[in-house]
Order: sequence, then C-alpha cells, then structure tokens
Amino acid sequence: MANDKLTQIISLCKRRGFIFGGSQIYGGLSSIWDYGPLGASIKKKIKDIWWKRYVDEREDIVGLDSGIIMSEGVFLASGHLKGFSDQLVDCSSCGKRFRVDKIEKVEKNIYKCPECGNQIDIGKNPPRQFNLMLKTNMSAAEDQPYYGYLRPETAQGIFVNFSNVLNTSRKKLPLGIAQIGKAFRNEVTTGSFIFRMKEFEQMEIEYFVRPEKANEFYDYWVKERYDFYLNSIGLNKENLRLRNHSKEELAHYAKTCTDIEFNFPFGWSELEGVANRGDYDLTKHAQESGKDLSYFDAKTKEKIIPYVIEPSAGVDRTFFAVISDAFCQEEVKGRKRTVLKLKPHLAPYQVAIFPLLKKNPELVKLAKNIFCDIKNKVPAVYDDTASIGKLYRRQDEIGTPFCVTVDVDSLDDKKVTVRNRDSMAQDRISIDKVLEFISDKLG
Ligand code: ATP
Repeated sequence: MANDKLTQIISLCKRRGFIFGGSQIYGGLSSIWDYGPLGASIKKKIKDIWWKRYVDEREDIVGLDSGIIMSEGVFLASGHLKGFSDQLVDCSSCGKRFRVDKIEKVEKNIYKCPECGNQIDIGKNPPRQFNLMLKTNMSAAEDQPYYGYLRPETAQGIFVNFSNVLNTSRKKLPLGIAQIGKAFRNEVTTGSFIFRMKEFEQMEIEYFVRPEKANEFYDYWVKERYDFYLNSIGLNKENLRLRNHSKEELAHYAKTCTDIEFNFPFGWSELEGVANRGDYDLTKHAQESGKDLSYFDAKTKEKIIPYVIEPSAGVDRTFFAVISDAFCQEEVKGRKRTVLKLKPHLAPYQVAIFPLLKKNPELVKLAKNIFCDIKNKVPAVYDDTASIGKLYRRQDEIGTPFCVTVDVDSLDDKKVTVRNRDSMAQDRISIDKVLEFISDKLG
C-alpha cells in the first residue's frame, strides 16, 4: 500500500509537470531529477518561506550565496575527502547494494536484505567504503588537470566566509549565516524518487554562538525548526517526529544531532538534521588555511572560536514531504478522485478559470477577462482545453484550491460557479465578488 502511494505520487508528478527524469530524452541520468513548471513553483515558495522567516525577519541572521565548486583545501580541512563515505554491502542473493547503517541488524555481523530477506553476513562479506565527493577538472589543458570539488553541503561555503561576513556585517554573537543552494553527493544507493539524489538543494543555517551557550541554542533550534514544518509549511503533525542520534551514528564533526523525520510513503526518514558541530569546522579551517578565524568578544576582551549549531534542511525532501502529505485518493460517486490537498500558500495556482463551452466565444471572452483581472492579484490559470469534468480533475491533481466556471447564465446574471477543491461544494458568486470570496476562504 505504502509503495503504491509512492508509485502514484511519482506518476502524478511526471504526468502533471512537477518533476521529470534528468536528461530524459537521452535515456535519463541516475538520481538526477528536473523540476517542471509546477514543481519549480512549489520549490520556490518553500525557499522563499524559509528565507523570509530566517533572513528577512531576523536581525541575528544574514544571507550568503557562495560558490558551488570549492578548492581541495576546504575538504581536506572539513574531513570530507577522507571521511565522507558510506559503508556498502552487496546482497549475495538478489545482488542489490545497501548502506549498512540503513538496513536491519539481526545479530552481530548479520543484517537482513530489505529487498529479498536474505541474511547478509558482513563478517564474511565486509562492507566497502565509497567516498561521496564529486570532483571536476578545472584546467583548460587536459594533460595538466587541477581539480575542484562540488560541495557536498552548503555549510562549507559559510565556514570559509565566516571572517568575511563577521567583518563586513559588524554583527556580534550569536550570529547566523544562512544559505540556500545546490549540493552534490555521489550517492551509491539511490532510488526512492527525490529522497536521495546526486544533485539536490539545501537550506542551511550555521548559527555561531559562545561555547557555553551551545546546548541552549541547540534545544532552541530543534524546536524552532520543528515549528517551521508545522506552521510555516503546514505539514500534518502526525507525519512529523524528532529522533536523537545515538553516539555511534553521529557524523565525524557532530557533538549531538537530532533528526526531524517525516513519514514518507516508504516510512519514517530524515527531513532535516539539527547538529551541534562544536568548534570543529572553524578550528580545522584555521589550521589548514593558516588564517585566524577566531571571534573577539569586545565585552569580555577574549578571543574565542565560536561553537556552531546547524539546522540543515533539504529543499527536495521538504518538497517530497509537502506532496506526500497532500496526496489523497478518495471515492466520489463510485469513481476514484486523486487530489493534492496542498496548503493554499504552496499551491502553484490558487484559482483556475474555465468557460463551460470553449466553442462559445462570449463565454471564452468573459472567462479570459475574469482571468486577466484575477491573475495580477493571486496566482491563477486559464484553461479551456478539455471538458469541464477533465478540467476539474486536472486542477484537483495539481492542488488548485478553487475553480471558477463561466456558463451561459453568467452572461445574464453576471455570476459564476466557484468550486472548492476539498469539499467540492459549488457556490454561485457575483463576478465582482469572486476574488473577495476566494480570499476570505484562503484566510
Ligand atoms: P541521510 O542519512 O538520509 O543520507 P544525511 O544525514 O547524510 O542524510 P545531512 O548530511 O544531515 O544528511 O544533510 C542535511 C539534509 O540535506 C538532509 O536532512 C536532507 O534533507 C538533505 N539531503 C542530504 N543528502 C541528500 C540527498 N542525497 N538527496 C536529497 N536530499 C539530501
């Protein structure tokens, strides 16, 4: 049933123009996905909500947009070149490859293959390390290569700019630096749609604090980020939970970490990680670069290396959670109805306008006039390319909260039918009151 839901979601995303396979006309590219017009619209809304809540509305956080390709020194210092790898095992029965940390442990050295149920004995068949970094040749001369690395997290761009931002913004601790951008990981175990991609987008804040304040701010950010998903994005509470990392699970740089998990169609998985990275990154970069990355506290007259709390969110996983949370199939008069019950502030369009009969020029003209009036005020779409039943179904599937239909009576009574996506209730409303009616319902 759960995987049925995943299949249905992928099919809807492709069919309606949310997401396409990357390089599709050339046969596709593993774990690279392109966002179509509707997907790009939702993705942008998610990023705008995050940026507004953290950069625009707060005085303690500033924005950054750093380079995607970074030098080798950055990742020698961060530990990614040496330690950023997955331990993978192959199942001898079905031949599939898995991350050891993601499959069920039966007893010491014995794991269960999630695909075929076979027992995998890592004593006999030890896991292999796969480094996740992607590197690129930046030299024009092929015989004299020099390499840059595609960042595996936006965070490193923040750490290497810490002094630049501190000196130019003249801010004091606590200070957050926020960044939205692409990150790249040569993931070997892929699949699960956009959950695990080789190219993806992150929304990260590195929040620099005095070391003795780190625990307090860590607790604050776990709550704050949970609240973001609940109240700014509008995910359902029963699909969200927090999970603390055990000591063995912690990344090489982290002191503590809590995952915010979402109940995806394949089960509970990480949506975001909130970590206390201590002074690991600034210390390592200061050592490797030879630059002073300390902070001078004017009050106490001491130089310190701040600790950093990192709420690290995935844009694509948030998008996936939004679609998954909203996806709904119900039976209406013996027929299956698929509807995306998106929160209106995330819907690509808030209203769709159709003429009941596309062959009637008067209806088409009136519908287009209404569309032109509305589209500057709320995101709207005009459509007359199918029968009314199909038009409703299309808008249900892309999550448009309201449809406005212009019929023959509209020419006389100057009223239209406004249909509500979720209740399917239809109201007859004066044309000049349509926007007010919709705005009221959208709240
Ligand atoms: P996982 O354990 O699922 O591989 P992670 O712990 O390696 O994730 P982080 O390094 O904490 O992930 O990255 C922060 C966030 O970036 C994740 O919570 C997720 O939302 C997003 N992210 C990480 N890797 C990917 C990926 N391959 N595809 C899509 N999003 C990703």
